[in-house]
Amino acid sequence: MAESSNVMEQIVSLCKRRGFVYPASEIYGGLNGFWDYGPLGVLLKNNIRDHWWRNMVLSPPIGPDGHPIDMVGIDTAIIQNPKTWVASGHVGGFSDPMVDDRESKQRYRADHVMVMVPKDKQGNAFAFLPGEQEAAEKKIKRDARRNPTDYDVVSLMTLALDQYGNIVAPATKSPGTLTEPRAFNLMFITYVGALQSDDSKAYLRPETAQGIFLNFKNVVDTTRVKVPFGVAQIGKSFRNEVTPRNFIFRSREFEQMEMEWFCHPDEARQWYEFWKVERMNWWRSLGVKESNLRLRDHEETELSHYSKMTVDIEYLYPFTAPDYGELEGIAHRGCFDLTQHQENSGQKLDYFDQDLQLKLKEQGVSAEDIKAKSRYIPNVIEPASGLTRAVLVILCEAYRKEPGRQGTEEFLSIKPQFAPIKLGIFPLVNKEGMPEVAEKLYLELRRDFTCEYDPKQSIGKRYARMDEIGTPFCITIDGDTLKDQTVTVRERDSMAQQRIALDKVRSYVAERMRD
Ligand code: ATP
Repeated sequence: MAESSNVMEQIVSLCKRRGFVYPASEIYGGLNGFWDYGPLGVLLKNNIRDHWWRNMVLSPPIGPDGHPIDMVGIDTAIIQNPKTWVASGHVGGFSDPMVDDRESKQRYRADHVMVMVPKDKQGNAFAFLPGEQEAAEKKIKRDARRNPTDYDVVSLMTLALDQYGNIVAPATKSPGTLTEPRAFNLMFITYVGALQSDDSKAYLRPETAQGIFLNFKNVVDTTRVKVPFGVAQIGKSFRNEVTPRNFIFRSREFEQMEMEWFCHPDEARQWYEFWKVERMNWWRSLGVKESNLRLRDHEETELSHYSKMTVDIEYLYPFTAPDYGELEGIAHRGCFDLTQHQENSGQKLDYFDQDLQLKLKEQGVSAEDIKAKSRYIPNVIEPASGLTRAVLVILCEAYRKEPGRQGTEEFLSIKPQFAPIKLGIFPLVNKEGMPEVAEKLYLELRRDFTCEYDPKQSIGKRYARMDEIGTPFCITIDGDTLKDQTVTVRERDSMAQQRIALDKVRSYVAERMRD
């Protein structure tokens, strides 16, 4: 446990030191749950974003019929008519149960708090947050003078209120300081226009999905898509999380990559299975190790108000280990959203399925049945993932610390395709004609790959800096380059060096950038 929290500290520190992620408004002391992406962080984030867009929208997967599926992209407003969030259930229900610790003033999501309860029901119980069980065990040994094996680990949500008096909160030593759980709406409120009143109240979207549902009819009427088809969107979402924590894992402003797949109700189950497979493959394509990924079906009691079934794609984060944490949710939303928006807006949001009509005609189905069956509200399968969580996954997956390694012990083994900088280009020394050749190469390649030209410091220091920021290749121009037109290429992970022809650098890098 201590080791995993160390790893996180080291990743956070490297991200700050090298310009991946900074705490937002740092000079004013920061703002809990908000982060800024620095020069390297934005490159990494955009690489993941573009990969998702390419794989979902520009070159979507091949469907069960052997042809590419239908998919279009969209970019909707962050602030929509507030009736949207009434219809979607967010105004009434988008809340987390929350408990306060009266003593430490800490606030926790009640469904995240775990408790070690004495098996014999004698004495205090000890609460902790996932990944911090060791702290509760220490208190048990030190304060209760008992063995942690005498305790059962249960969720706080399973305990009755009359047991709260015996619970020692995660940050306190004496029992009875936790309040009972209270609902807390997660939407950020804002006001539209000059007057701040209930009539001008609006919300920052807590998910990108609703903007897609609101435009279902527009997309059907203005493009050539036919059910089944998908509409995909990437953008910011905002949630006033009770306990933003674990770096960028749970923040109050984050980016989502969501897709709503509209299909015939009879085919929804089949598409749900299809997207499970496709989405797992996508995460593998980022270079995430198989053993660090898993699918977890939601229990019936865990399902959101709109969901018929949901499966999470989870990752083995250093702060959840040995458990896994959510990365993406794939939900079968049935016809909940379109039905709700149809009822609340008074606009028809059903779909007339011409292909189905023809098929039923050929089958000799009665005209009345055809009419009833070819008009329906589509079902929706939704793969919803976090772009900023994907950045965290790539960083956790890539982080290496190898004591004794030359130059720097810490480096990022990011798959070349996603590395913020693909190529470092260095003159061995900043004289004798070398900078001119190196800069010429840099100018030739920078439109194809993000390159960095760096003529300063010792070559070892320059390699080390590139390793730390995950640059997969470095090219060095030396005295021999001027004689035989060859350069040294150094590979980040193995640190192996080889000579290649100067005019082969482009193809060398391009080849290693493919999927
Ligand atoms: P969690 O259980 O972690 O709160 P959720 O089930 O509420 O997540 P969804 O509503 O399914 O999340 O959102 C889809 C995805 O958006 C999540 O899988 C996650 O990757 C991302 N996401 C949700 N909330 C946050 C957040 N506060 N910070 C960063 N990413 C988030």
